Amino acid sequence: VLISLSTEVDRDREPYEAIAQMGAGGASPRGSTYWRRAQLCPREHLLGNVLGWDPLVRADALDTGLLWHGVLETYYRAVHAQQLGERRPDTPEQEAFRFLQKFRDHAGWIEFYEICSRMLDAYVNRWERLDADTWEIVAVEFTCGWTKETHPEVHERLGFEQTTRLDLVVVDHSLAPVTRIVEHKSSYALDPQTIIAYSMDDQIFGQLYLGRYWIDWAALGYPPFVGTLVNVTTKAKTPRLERLPVQPADEALHAWAESKRYWAWQAEQYSALGYPRNYAQCSRRFGRCQFYELCRRDPAMTAQSALELAARAEVPGGYEQRPSFHDLLEVL
Ligand code: SF4
Repeated sequence: VLISLSTEVDRDREPYEAIAQMGAGGASPRGSTYWRRAQLCPREHLLGNVLGWDPLVRADALDTGLLWHGVLETYYRAVHAQQLGERRPDTPEQEAFRFLQKFRDHAGWIEFYEICSRMLDAYVNRWERLDADTWEIVAVEFTCGWTKETHPEVHERLGFEQTTRLDLVVVDHSLAPVTRIVEHKSSYALDPQTIIAYSMDDQIFGQLYLGRYWIDWAALGYPPFVGTLVNVTTKAKTPRLERLPVQPADEALHAWAESKRYWAWQAEQYSALGYPRNYAQCSRRFGRCQFYELCRRDPAMTAQSALELAARAEVPGGYEQRPSFHDLLEVL
């Protein structure tokens, strides 16, 4: 058996951003993608967070997630505009399909197009009526939080940075009005393990922390904030859909903040230690670390040599410099 060990990387589809043309849209700089890298491997923190390198080819699941978010962003922006009384020639569903059409004729995107078309059909069938009756849109793709630069006094007091990009914020009128964050997810399955994972998810906890303690909903004129609805659509031939409420107690959010304080301190030690590699994290439950090829190809690369490369504005083969240090993957 011949096992290919090639590290050649070909980009077989145009980047999502080039086709979508939606801009970074205020993607979040200290969200769960940043923290995941910082908490999993010091070297990944250097390459992905400090230097801002990205692999040229994104994993299929990430591109599907980005496209699905783009579709729902287009859809809910149109719903929001309608609710504000704007007259538009097309329905939100038509606008979302038009956005999706951009991907149909681009090489390498047809499979993603077909998956998201099925998901959108199923989504509109399942939720359009209910949303129209119960959801008042407050914001679509809204970035909030603090960093050392934006709010030094908050960082000083809490000991960590946290930002997030909220997919959707609604006032839910199905019972007494409440304010909710809605987090869109595309997943392979809707089994209990997938569902339960969202109730202990770093990204969701970060949003809930900001929703509970950072945004003063009452001062803004909104009803009480109750938590996040995880809005799951599967990529199956017949997509399944579910909305899962996540509303942890204050103790759970305080425990999460305690953990973030530790990891913020820990990440500050990495530079003095040369951003060591953590080989326990190279292969993961869903695929590999984004820098797997780089670490395998160039085991002698030190943090210093990576920093020198970046200082010359060079990037290793198979990778590119993220145009902005704000992370698009934060939407996933
Ligand atoms: S491949 Fe392994 S060692 Fe390299 S950055 Fe990723 S997790 Fe760290």
